[in-house]
Amino acid sequence: MVETRLIDGKAFAETMRARLKDEVAAFVAATGVTPGLAVVLVGEDPASAVYVRNKGKQTAEAGMTSIEHKLPADTAQDDVLALVRALNADPAVHGILVQLPLPAHIDAQAVLATIDPAKDVDGFHVVNAGRLAVGLDALAPCTPLGCVMLLKDTLGSLAGLEAVVVGRSNIVGKPLAQLLLREDCTVTIAHSRTRDLPGVCRRADILIGAVGRPEMIRGDWIKPGATVIDVGINRVAGADGKNRLVGDVAFNEAQGIAGAITPVPGGVGPMTIACLLANTLTAARRQVG
Ligand code: NDP
Repeated sequence: MVETRLIDGKAFAETMRARLKDEVAAFVAATGVTPGLAVVLVGEDPASAVYVRNKGKQTAEAGMTSIEHKLPADTAQDDVLALVRALNADPAVHGILVQLPLPAHIDAQAVLATIDPAKDVDGFHVVNAGRLAVGLDALAPCTPLGCVMLLKDTLGSLAGLEAVVVGRSNIVGKPLAQLLLREDCTVTIAHSRTRDLPGVCRRADILIGAVGRPEMIRGDWIKPGATVIDVGINRVAGADGKNRLVGDVAFNEAQGIAGAITPVPGGVGPMTIACLLANTLTAARRQVG
């Protein structure tokens, strides 16, 4: 039986945001420029609205300017593209984030491709994805960045470790695999067509669930002592009829097997906004020189 350590992403993110606040203050004092983050929300997806509100609050708390553009769900794609171009040209805006998902009539790739890569603080533009893949400086996606920070804080060097990432989306799985390669892990990306997924997962020193299926990764898929990062956020009905959040990993089953694990909520989730703020400061530094 292994003693399973809880990886407290909430506390880590709070410390990170406090440090960022000091760094932003120093940047403003040195340059006279306040970093600005513009968030574009199209439509009324309730989860997105909560997320955008939290982003705005935490951006302001870090001493940066938060600019929110809330557009109705039936906004034409051309109008969204025109707004993004205006934000690209605005010197007070150093980071642009278009909240996904977008309504079905809007081509998300076309919108992401219009964002100036220098202001692409979500790291979803193909230029940033490509730069990350070839090992150049890039604005990397926030959730994967947060995962790697928690892993390094838990394990120190990740070099040589077997990492299995379950999920291959462009926003989590693929960039996370690139970041782990950069840390010299031996990386496997698993997905819905992977054969013997439990067996693949059992090889992992670092096991990452980024699937979006409640508690799909079972306790006996985890190698004893492995570090488990649970990116999944799934809403399920509890016994009392109320919704509760669970991850992609069966958290209770992982106790006594995993060496360390992130809880849901309070693990990876809080790291995403903290890394968004860090990317905004990085983008501002590069733009201001
Ligand atoms: P996507 O739906 O875009 O991707 C899911 C991935 O999981 C796909 O690659 C898919 O494989 C794979 N998958 C689906 N079913 C299986 C299966 N049965 N076995 C193995 N692999 C499977 O999701 P995202 O990457 O956007 O998000 C993943 C999870 O992370 C979600 O719960 C989401 O809510 C959460 N999330 C959390 C964030 C945070 O801040 N903590 C931020 C972003 C996401 P295939 O490609 O073959 O279809």
